Amino acid sequence: MKRPIYFDYNATTPVDPQVFEAMLPYFQNEFGNSVSASHAFGWNAERAVEAARTQVAKLLNCTPHEVHFTSGATEANNWALRGLVDHIRLENPQAPIEIISSPLEHSSVTQTLRRLEKMAVTVHWLKPNSKGELSLQELESRISPHTKLISLMWINNEIGNINPIQEISKIARQHKVYLHSDATQALGKIKVDLSQTPVDLLSFSAHKIYGPKGVGALCIRGHDPKVRIEPLLFGGGHERGQRSGTLNVPAIVGMGKACEILSANLDSESAKLTKLRDQLWVLLKKNFPTARLNGPEIQNRAPNNLNVTFENCTVPPTFAEVAVSRGSACQSGAMSTSPILKSIGLSDQQAESTLRLSVGRFSTVEELEKAVQLLVLSIKGKNTDISVI
Ligand code: PMP
Repeated sequence: MKRPIYFDYNATTPVDPQVFEAMLPYFQNEFGNSVSASHAFGWNAERAVEAARTQVAKLLNCTPHEVHFTSGATEANNWALRGLVDHIRLENPQAPIEIISSPLEHSSVTQTLRRLEKMAVTVHWLKPNSKGELSLQELESRISPHTKLISLMWINNEIGNINPIQEISKIARQHKVYLHSDATQALGKIKVDLSQTPVDLLSFSAHKIYGPKGVGALCIRGHDPKVRIEPLLFGGGHERGQRSGTLNVPAIVGMGKACEILSANLDSESAKLTKLRDQLWVLLKKNFPTARLNGPEIQNRAPNNLNVTFENCTVPPTFAEVAVSRGSACQSGAMSTSPILKSIGLSDQQAESTLRLSVGRFSTVEELEKAVQLLVLSIKGKNTDISVI
């Protein structure tokens, strides 16, 4: 079968060749355990992990000791939320705990919060408008003396909203409430600078920024104020006692390299993504005049993301030649609509005609034109005129 054209960079990204090369020595020659303190294998592995920590910290403009490696953003999100609640409960078991979040968060946040609701935590779910935007007035009005945390993502993974984290962080500071943000889709798309935007707990993942899968990190603010959370994983006391488990040295080295590449190229990469994404939208509109953009207007959304409902069209469940993501997924034989699309008011039927298309570092104009042709053939049938730029 011919290799499909990849337009699903919000789902995952290929490992950049430079990242792959940086990782290679750590599978065989430099295979040491980074906590083996008595020999050179261990020292070399530790040195590599600390160099990667510095590369990650440089991208985020934070200090290396604030970076804690995890197995990905799912773990980082679980850890931020559960670890903070655990800490508050250990200090004061009777303290009421309230958290403010939104239904547009990734499931690793919403499902963790649903679990915490069963453990006497009150979660206030902000109501997004039909474009997926949240009201800062509503956010502020939900803060009470019991509010301990605001958890709002930086960029939405499905509909590409960019939350105003700078303003949200100001509100959090004013009210002395911690701020957690899932920045998984923000890294590599826009500037995430923790010295400018004080976020107390920041989660992210390597496989969305051309690093390997199965590695991510949680940045825990180390000063002004120092944030204390309990570990999720106990054992050997790795990561300054905060996250036990032998470190995945090759993956961490890869994550560091992926961050180093972004530190050098973020502006040009982001401009390239925006240009390609805009071209893709023009082409889609030419061929599908009734196509409707979900989420914010084109100029206000994440630079690489489109989420499009093809009104009055039957969108096939799968595409053999182009890799895009659907607005509804088949789970155990039944179609289920994305909770995010539901939250902004799409019907099940509209979600079934919805696709997320996301461009990335290795996307080209040629691929874009070919992908639109293939989508027209799949959605409108064979005897249709196709417009390309
Ligand atoms: N948060 C967001 C916004 C995501 O897009 C994803 C990945 N789909 C995750 C968290 C989970 O990341 P990981 O795959 O590293 O667990």
